[in-house]
Amino acid sequence: MDWLKTGIRTAFLRMGGMHAVRYSHRKALRILMYHRFPGKAALEEQCSHFVRHYRLLSMTEAAANLRPGGSIPCNSLAITVDDGYRDFFLVAYPVFRAFRIPVTVFLATDFVDGTAWLWTDIVRYVCANTAAAEVNIADASLELRFPLDSAESRRRASSAVTEALKRMPNSERLRVVADFPQSLRVALPARPPQEYAPLTWDEVRSMADGGIVFGAHTRSHPILSRVAECAELRSEIQGSRARIEEELQRPVVHFCYPNGGKEDISPAAIEEARRAGFETAVTTSIGLNHPGCDPFTLRRIGVEPDLPRFYFERAVAGYVR
Ligand SMILES: [Zn+2]
Repeated sequence: MDWLKTGIRTAFLRMGGMHAVRYSHRKALRILMYHRFPGKAALEEQCSHFVRHYRLLSMTEAAANLRPGGSIPCNSLAITVDDGYRDFFLVAYPVFRAFRIPVTVFLATDFVDGTAWLWTDIVRYVCANTAAAEVNIADASLELRFPLDSAESRRRASSAVTEALKRMPNSERLRVVADFPQSLRVALPARPPQEYAPLTWDEVRSMADGGIVFGAHTRSHPILSRVAECAELRSEIQGSRARIEEELQRPVVHFCYPNGGKEDISPAAIEEARRAGFETAVTTSIGLNHPGCDPFTLRRIGVEPDLPRFYFERAVAGYVR
């Protein structure tokens, strides 16, 4: 029935449906969330869509407009990028810069320090590179068994292990991840290979001079609701802020919760973000934001450079369910 779907889509567009969606949400703030940037061409197309139809705000302007009694300029859009992968510098930054689009990038600081991989990439790398026939984890609170006999089964195993780890207490998750390469007899390089490489602080500094705003995204990207110790929560949240401020010598006022779903954020984590002195904190709860909303649980719309154009433009317009 693809012809039917395509037909409906075309009709929707012809009738100005996209404009209607955008118009109905014109007074709300859209915050987009990107992660990775495989190539320039698709992002250039998306950027030309942004500048044609939206008013691009920095997170700092957005925060001011979201205060109680504030108002959002028509069709406003703020762009955020999570984690701090190097492809932002190599691929995305020149594109956003050419279009003069303000962007806020959230950094996991142990990752940028080069002292740790993003832990989800360790799982991905090990599942992709092991010679073992299966993943077999039998831990106190976790039992997982997945075959690794094809590229597809490796991907499936990696995402199942990652999802299981996200639900574990953080201290146990750290232990399982630390043992994971050895248990599958993979020698993990000390620094992540190109595909999983972080930005360097020199790149971060030069982009900050070029107008990119940097926010904090914890030190080691734990799921904050699984962190039991208050001191650890503080070190993850405040520590990442202090680290970026130390490198950039400018205030860091925006925060991003790792993973960012409702079940990944605890009231204690929100409180800690407030105490750390941030002005805003973004989640991955899907939706739009209005003046007077809680600045510590801002909603976002997840997008990727390779999203098909129709879905991309519709999501950006504010069609979210
Ligand atoms: Zn993240």
